[in-house]
Amino acid sequence: MLEINALPPRAKLLLRGDDTHKGLYGGVAVIGGAHGMTGAALLAGRAALNLGAGKIWVGMLDENVAVDFHQPELMICRAEALFQTHLPTHFLVGMGLGMSPEANHVLALAMDTSVPLLLDADALNLIALHPHLQLQLAERSAPSLLTPHPSEAARLLSTTTEHVQQDRVSAVRTLSERFQCHVVLKGHGTLVQAFEGELSINHSGNAALSSAGQGDTLAGIIMALCAQGLDLALAARCGVFLHGQAADDWRTRYHAGIGLTASETILLARAALNRLL
Ligand code: AMP
Ligand code: MG
Repeated sequence: MLEINALPPRAKLLLRGDDTHKGLYGGVAVIGGAHGMTGAALLAGRAALNLGAGKIWVGMLDENVAVDFHQPELMICRAEALFQTHLPTHFLVGMGLGMSPEANHVLALAMDTSVPLLLDADALNLIALHPHLQLQLAERSAPSLLTPHPSEAARLLSTTTEHVQQDRVSAVRTLSERFQCHVVLKGHGTLVQAFEGELSINHSGNAALSSAGQGDTLAGIIMALCAQGLDLALAARCGVFLHGQAADDWRTRYHAGIGLTASETILLARAALNRLL
């Protein structure tokens, strides 16, 4: 098993030349944000922006959110509009998505594209419930990444969280084979299983990450790195490391490690990327 204790050398691919423009750094589309959970989608969008993606759309299921006043760089639209007028190069789906028929519909549309796709949270819960979505996922032509926490992994495997935690390596391998995807199994000692590739364990991060929205933030970080040119499996390894490093940097300053917010994690991960690259 590969041990992740630093940013992998291939992350240097992210360094930018002078003659460049935002069009080279992808168009990332977040899909989620049902009524009452819009913050989850915004956190993923903000993370993608701050970690360097070129353009970011946030396709909301809640039609009442039109702008993020704290991050006006984000382009907010209805989720369906992403498939009509825009041409995203990367999708991340699930943050605050909910389990409605509309959620199911936009998830199926995103899985039907031929661009890299990250699935988290309610996207995973919908897949666990619907065999036709499982089939659609396994048959995708482009790379997909699942980022379950242990309970989401348990739902996907029709087992218990305790069972997943007893043998995390077997759980992450089974998920990767069954759904033909890269998989990040979150939690202390996050595992990254590349599809038909290497298994890694991440050693950055700490209990300060046990707070609301941290998973949404991780999803945005990973997709930003992929949009800037890393392949999805490498983006997952780098993203997981940077997310954990952000929490480690924070705990250096605030020893007990209580009260780190996901919004702060985004800025600390950005600082870690710029320092360590
Ligand atoms: P989620 O449960 O989807 O919000 O994701 C939580 C994120 O924080 C994941 O990336 C976890 O790996 C990370 N995390 C939560 N608790 C810990 C912990 N005790 N040690 C390391 N990472 C953690
Ligand atoms: Mg989550």
